[in-house]
Amino acid sequence: MTTKITIHGAAGRMGRSIAAVLAEDQNAELVAGVDRGEAVGKDLGLLAGKGPTGVLVVADLEEAFRKADVVIDFSLPAATRGVMEAAGSVGVPVVCGTTGVDAEGRASIDALGKAQPVVFAPNYSQGVTALFHLAARAAELLGEGFDAEIVEMHHKLKVDSPSGTAMRLAEVVAGAKGFSLEDDAVYGREGDVGARPKREIAVLALRGGDVVGEHTLYLQGMGERIELTHRATDRGIFARGAVRAAHWVKGKAPGVYDMFDVMGVAR
Ligand code: NAD
Repeated sequence: MTTKITIHGAAGRMGRSIAAVLAEDQNAELVAGVDRGEAVGKDLGLLAGKGPTGVLVVADLEEAFRKADVVIDFSLPAATRGVMEAAGSVGVPVVCGTTGVDAEGRASIDALGKAQPVVFAPNYSQGVTALFHLAARAAELLGEGFDAEIVEMHHKLKVDSPSGTAMRLAEVVAGAKGFSLEDDAVYGREGDVGARPKREIAVLALRGGDVVGEHTLYLQGMGERIELTHRATDRGIFARGAVRAAHWVKGKAPGVYDMFDVMGVAR
């Protein structure tokens, strides 16, 4: 059955990428888009780099949310509370990909989760979600005889380091090994650092060129090592994951879910 979707943040990079994914999806229909300023009145199809659809960007959240089975929100933290409250008054589930959401925004997500199903994930890539799962299982299986180290690589314009995804990967591996990032993570080595302690996870960042994003977990034993790598070549991975989440969330029980739930990954 078709999933009717409204995009909040429709004119942004992610909003346009999601509209492009929806245009190819036989089981989804883009019914409305919300944005602000000059974007209002623009055709969603043209914004997505496709042909005109006649569906225009509007500024009124409730009007746009009422048409949808699911709202996908990739906008700004300042908008989160308004999105959740409008979804609550209309009674529609939300897939939220906005990052940097503050405590007030998080509280509004939890409040909506009491009445509607909400998916809230910092990374909608299906491959990255699988990497987190495989990393935790491998670290558990191999135990303390294997040293874990993480290397990530991104384009030269990225301003934060290490990436949020590398930190989440480190958290997952630390959890599986019984380590804590606060006490056991290091972010570089230089000079007379001594032999590697047993309780240590290094998270190292490389920068350059136009690399979309690469993350490798090394599990290094004596005489063997495993390398688990995720390579992103296209930012559309987040849009495809968000659309998968939108299909999944329709008809689910109220609650706040993440990509592990969407992909049926055991924790
Ligand atoms: P962007 O700046 O290109 O787009 C954001 C859009 O939201 C803009 O068009 C803006 O006008 C609109 N917007 C902001 N506040 C609004 C409001 N109050 N009402 C209506 N429209 C509003 O940004 P982007 O690259 O598309 O990223 C959007 C968000 O998604 C960011 O928080 C980003 O970090 C996040 N993101 C998450 C993932 C993930 O997997 N979870 C992946 C990529 C990006």
